[in-house]
Amino acid sequence: MLDNKKVDRKKLAQQEVQVTSNQFNISEIVTKERLIEENPFEMAKKQIDIVADEMGLDENLKKFLKRVERSLIVSIPIKMDDGKLEIFEGYRVHHSTIRGPGKGGIRFASNVYLDEVKALATWMTWKCSLLNLPLGGAKGGIRVDPRKLSKNELERLTRRYTSEIINIIGPNIDIPAPDVNTNSQIMAWIMDTYSMNKGRAIPGVVTGKPIEIGGSVGRETATGMGLLYVLEAMCEKLDLDLKSQRVVIQGFGNVGGTIADLLYKEGCKVLAISDITGGIFDSEGLNIGKILKWTRNGNYLIDYEEERYELITNDDLLEIECDILIPAALENQITEANAKKINCKIVLEGANGPTTPNADKILFERGIHVVPDILANAGGVCVSYFEYVQDIHAYFWDLSRINKELKMIMLKAFEEVYNLSKSKNINLRTAAYIIAVSRIVKAIELRGIFP
Ligand code: GLU
Repeated sequence: MLDNKKVDRKKLAQQEVQVTSNQFNISEIVTKERLIEENPFEMAKKQIDIVADEMGLDENLKKFLKRVERSLIVSIPIKMDDGKLEIFEGYRVHHSTIRGPGKGGIRFASNVYLDEVKALATWMTWKCSLLNLPLGGAKGGIRVDPRKLSKNELERLTRRYTSEIINIIGPNIDIPAPDVNTNSQIMAWIMDTYSMNKGRAIPGVVTGKPIEIGGSVGRETATGMGLLYVLEAMCEKLDLDLKSQRVVIQGFGNVGGTIADLLYKEGCKVLAISDITGGIFDSEGLNIGKILKWTRNGNYLIDYEEERYELITNDDLLEIECDILIPAALENQITEANAKKINCKIVLEGANGPTTPNADKILFERGIHVVPDILANAGGVCVSYFEYVQDIHAYFWDLSRINKELKMIMLKAFEEVYNLSKSKNINLRTAAYIIAVSRIVKAIELRGIFP
């Protein structure tokens, strides 16, 4: 039975990849509504419209906020181990550097494309602004399935990509970091390539580096810790006892895996988790400690057979009845199509852009609290900021200082967002956007438009 399901799921996963990579067939005519539901940058622009209306922003500012400052598309030719040449496409986008250097991760994924990176860069602007960090918003990506590359190929890809974008990154320009399918080793190669080109060690060019070369303690778990602090605060507001909540998590990478671990240790029942191969479910709760040992050795959930957990798809997972749903994978997961079937009290957005504006509306009307990405998952960039500050000062903090300052910044932002949402009777996302966008608007007004 288990094996049959496994075959089907593997087939399904392949089909899903095909569908997503063909999603934006340019010959297809799509409606604006569908674009907003499916194209992250259209969605990001719609979110700007919503907050602009709420704030009464003028058309000029709206226009300004909806464009990115610059997008660089590069080709990355790589000599593969078998002697063949492969060309990959890479991107780096700056949405805004008005409040400081660009900041944001780099993702390696087979279906990443320019509009997605533009959206992710835009969300980084709001995220940094919401936490009041002196940083702007940027993002990068390479269209590649890193699972198909050897370690040497991955290193060559990373180094060539770094060389291609070298003129628009740097400690005072734009500071990349890890994101989907990238890690501290990849950041080390970026730091080395940049430093070799400049003729001296420049650790401040990226964050999320290994600790031995200027990384920060606590960066690896930072997004998960931030999610936990915000969730604790949210539960307190709703008078919920965190320990007795049932949790469902989509995504089991750095973000999903860390928050699963933290909540499991907290005593919560984690009913379901998933990765790119699909999910596993048990109404009695999963043994997260054991599963993490499996996945941290480079294995996928589909092959986990130690316990006979029920296999489910990523779509089914979202509709499981629970108290806290944590989408911690990719964009556009909770849409108009499934928002009515979401069955929880709190959606805590570990991923960037998992909920579309139409879904937001439905969830708000249904009384489901959505803690938005730019607040919920901001712990990662917050500790990235600490890493950047430590690199500049060449003076390093200990873990207790990192977590204390992280908690302070996260809770301050949470209180501001929560109070504004209550006083204006708006959802948490719109409240977070009002705070974040207001700071950017103020900066635009003060700096003016050049020339
Ligand atoms: N990729 C993470 C994010 O989406 C972290 C970015 C950073 O640390 O710069 O927030």
